[in-house]
Amino acid sequence: MAKKSKEARKKAVITVLNKARAMELQAIHQYMNQHYGLDDMDYGELAANMKLIAIDEMRHAEEFAERIKELGGEPTTEKAGKVKAGQKVEAVFPFDANLEDHTIDTYNQFLLACQENGDNVSAKIFEAILDEEQAHYNYFDNVDEHIKKLGATYLAKIAGTSSSTGLTPKGFAVNEGGE
Ligand code: FE
Ligand code: FE
Repeated sequence: MAKKSKEARKKAVITVLNKARAMELQAIHQYMNQHYGLDDMDYGELAANMKLIAIDEMRHAEEFAERIKELGGEPTTEKAGKVKAGQKVEAVFPFDANLEDHTIDTYNQFLLACQENGDNVSAKIFEAILDEEQAHYNYFDNVDEHIKKLGATYLAKIAGTSSSTGLTPKGFAVNEGGE
């Protein structure tokens, strides 16, 4: 760390913040797509929670952008990867649990990169967001287990439930008593 210039360290932090922002942009689009899909299949409660989680990811994308701007960088507008469309309900939840699991692992590494480059403010942003990604993982994994164990019985209970999130939804992790 001592060998790197202040500018080089800042640049390294901006790079990981932008990689994280690109992952958030992908997650937003992925979860929005699944929200419409689940709503269309009439799994209202699952659709509503998916929308709330997409809202969490938007807040994350904004938090990373604000920090990038603070450091004098330019927030990326590109997604990290492609969005998977047209998934069946059984495919959605293991897919998303895997996405969050990958995000948690990656953000832990990015957090370390921020610390190694002497930026504890950015490290703290990763720390707070990691708690919410863990809440997302837990939710997706729970639903996946219900579908795997109870199948049609569980899905029948969800069918026809409301997909409403109200006029000013604050997101999922907030409602779950997270950050
Ligand atoms: Fe996120
Ligand atoms: Fe997430």
